[in-house]
Amino acid sequence: MITGPSGVGKGTLIRTLLERFPQLRLSVSATTREPRPGETQGVDYHFLTRAEFEKRLQNGEFLEHAEYAGNQYGTLRSELDRAAEGLVLEIELQGARQVRQALPEALQVFIKPPSLDALRTRLIARGAESEEQIARRLDVAERELAAEHEWKHVIVNDRLEDAVDQLASLVATLWDEQPRGDSQ
Ligand code: ADP
Ligand code: 5GP
Repeated sequence: MITGPSGVGKGTLIRTLLERFPQLRLSVSATTREPRPGETQGVDYHFLTRAEFEKRLQNGEFLEHAEYAGNQYGTLRSELDRAAEGLVLEIELQGARQVRQALPEALQVFIKPPSLDALRTRLIARGAESEEQIARRLDVAERELAAEHEWKHVIVNDRLEDAVDQLASLVATLWDEQPRGDSQ
C-alpha cells in the first residue's frame, strides 16, 4: 500500500515499480471525481456517480473508502478477490488507515515530498487541477504530512531515481529477490 499527499509522485513511482516487478498489479479504485483528459473508465478508475458509489457502499462492497477534496474514493473488495498477492493500493491517508487495520500484514509505505513548496510546484506542473483544487489538495497535504510518524516506511521523493530504488528494495523483500533490470 502506497500513501502520501496528492502530487508527491505516487503514480509516477508506481508506474516504474510495475515495470520492474511483473508480479505486481495496480488496484483500480472507484471514484466520483470526473475523469481527467486521457483517463479511461475501468483502467485508471471505476468512475461512478455519487448514487452508484453510495449503493455499493451500502452493499458493503468497499474494503475502505474516504471523502477527499470533495469526492469519494474507495477500494472495491472485488479488486482483492482477483489477486490480493502483489496488489498495489495507491490511496490517501484516511483510507490507508482503514487498510492498516484490515490488513496489518500489508507492506505500507508513506511517500513524502522534500518540502511543501516542491509539492506545490509538482501539482502546478501536472496541470490536472484548477487553482482552487490545488489549494484544497495542499491543505489536505499539510494534514497528511503531519501523520508521517504513523508509518513504518517513509520515502522522500526528491530525486525520482533514488525514491524508485528505495521503493523497489522494500518491495523486493516481499519475494526476497532482486528487482528485474537492476543489474549493478
Ligand atoms: P501523485 O500520484 O502522488 O498525485 P504524480 O505521480 O501524478 O503524483 O506526480 C505529480 C507531478 O510531479 C507529475 O507531474 C510528476 O511528473 C512530478 N514528479 C513526480 N516525481 C517527481 C520528482 N521526484 N521530482 C520532480 N517531479 C516529480
Ligand atoms: P486523484 O484525484 O489525484 O486521482 O486522487 C486523489 C487522492 O485520492 C490521491 O491521494 C489518491 O491516492 C487517493 N485515492 C485514489 N484511489 C483511492 C482509493 O481507492 N481509496 C482512497 N482512500 N484514496 C484513494
